Amino acid sequence: MKVPFFREAFKNLFKASSTNKELDQSNPEGYRGKIKFDSEKCIGCGLCTRVCAPCAITKTTKKIDENTQEITLIFDLASCTFCGMCSDFCSKKAITLTKESNIIVCNKEELMVRGSFTKTMTKRVEKKK
Ligand code: SF4
Ligand code: SF4
Repeated sequence: MKVPFFREAFKNLFKASSTNKELDQSNPEGYRGKIKFDSEKCIGCGLCTRVCAPCAITKTTKKIDENTQEITLIFDLASCTFCGMCSDFCSKKAITLTKESNIIVCNKEELMVRGSFTKTMTKRVEKKK
């Protein structure tokens, strides 16, 4: 029995994936791929969550103590349309849309880009009259 394309399929078994990192690098300047979030630059203003039309960004706040809170941002790439609005509006340049186009996963959790940081509130000092 002649199996169509068998030879071609067998050869491809030993070839590198065509969705690899080199391919990502050949994407043109300005390509909007996988989101990278730098939590060290983020100030937790929440503007990115407000401009995201498909509501793909979640911001959560957890109280650590009286003056400190932990802020977490999660970008759900399953809902993201890669419009780039969050990155454009972030004044701290904490969000980058990389050239990475290979976003194939087995587990949906791998589509969550997350980052956390702690924020300390400064106490307001009342001026004595
Ligand atoms: S990523 Fe940017 S826009 Fe979003 S909360 Fe942080 S500083 Fe604000
Ligand atoms: S790129 Fe667009 S859709 Fe994706 S998280 Fe940012 S604002 Fe939302």
